[in-house]
Amino acid sequence: MLVLASRGGDNGVVDVLLVEDDPAIASSLVDSLTSAGYRVTHVGTGADALDAAGPDVVLLDLGLPDMDGHDVCRQLRERSNVPILMLTARGDEVDRVLGLELGADDYIVKPFGFRELVARMRAVARRTSAGAAVDAGDGDTSGVVEVGPLRVDRRSHRVTLIVADETTDVALTPKEFELLSFLADDPGAVRTRTDIVEHVWDANWYGPTKTVDAHVAGIRRKLGDARWIEAVRGVGFRLEVPPVGE
Ligand code: CA
Repeated sequence: MLVLASRGGDNGVVDVLLVEDDPAIASSLVDSLTSAGYRVTHVGTGADALDAAGPDVVLLDLGLPDMDGHDVCRQLRERSNVPILMLTARGDEVDRVLGLELGADDYIVKPFGFRELVARMRAVARRTSAGAAVDAGDGDTSGVVEVGPLRVDRRSHRVTLIVADETTDVALTPKEFELLSFLADDPGAVRTRTDIVEHVWDANWYGPTKTVDAHVAGIRRKLGDARWIEAVRGVGFRLEVPPVGE
């Protein structure tokens, strides 16, 4: 692994892990990110990406020489909730949905502009724990919501299920957390897809609506009961406590 650029010493520097095997794209991204104040570690293989020490955000090319980027994403996600932005030349919806199901937080399709990349990185970084700590002072993002056995704590970005006095942590990605906590703000109320997209993603998100479904599927799986999130056909989704003993 090669640390190409460092602005160490100042607080709040964002460590970016760039996983990209194309030298031209990588060197241009490293230059731009470094100029913008990021500390960049660049690797060209999936194996090196998995060896890299805890970054604040991962930019992950899907087409790597040694591994499929989707496998890299899945393995990174198994060990941490670090925000992952996939860089992909494959713009079709199937790949996007697969990636999001594997735990990516967002996509950017090549070719993309640097300003768009930074905007996406900021959007996902805001949803990390560090971002939550910074945001906690503004009142409406703090607090704990309890819905039946489900407990959503915005301050620590922690989700737990308490069943028969046993507390289980539910490891959600930043986007999944935002979606669940948005639904939990008003249990039983239907949130429209548009509201969900605007709240959980940025208003300038132009991705496929299937993205919402992919995240809902992820949350349902992690909560261990699909009935937690009810789909209301043609409208959106709502949070419901599943009936016990069925
Ligand atoms: Ca590539």
